[in-house]
Amino acid sequence: MNGAQQALLEKRDGSDVGRDPRKVNREELIAAGHQPKSPLKALRLRCLDCCADQPSEVRLCTAVRCANWPFRLGTNPWRKEPTDAQRERARSLMPQRRAGVGNQRNARSENAMSEVAATTLPAAKLSTGKTAVLQDQTPRCATGGEVLR
Ligand code: SF4
Repeated sequence: MNGAQQALLEKRDGSDVGRDPRKVNREELIAAGHQPKSPLKALRLRCLDCCADQPSEVRLCTAVRCANWPFRLGTNPWRKEPTDAQRERARSLMPQRRAGVGNQRNARSENAMSEVAATTLPAAKLSTGKTAVLQDQTPRCATGGEVLR
């Protein structure tokens, strides 16, 4: 256990006990190795840990009395079903959402194109009209960042 993990403990009657997580800040959690995640994701990870990281074993778990059992595949069976009115409203909003996403993509694409021209051609080449030859063959995304593989 490293120092950041040790910091999540406190003494009680001379023994280590876990601190109240409601009084631990995000930075302390991250320093100790925790990542922000939903409770459902945490339950799923707990089940995987319980089954030696074997998803098929989590799926086959027979411990039906375990509090995690209904959540072990990463879904919440207690979530309320949407009403017919909520479904209809979501359906009616779908075209607007799709259009909104398309507009955002177009705006990003236009912005990216203007950035590419400014970052790939040196100013000297632009003023002479000569074609720029890029020496760096590293794959780049539209904004000039290196593509991760
Ligand atoms: S539901 Fe099964 S796999 Fe998940 S924690 Fe409980 S016993 Fe382990």
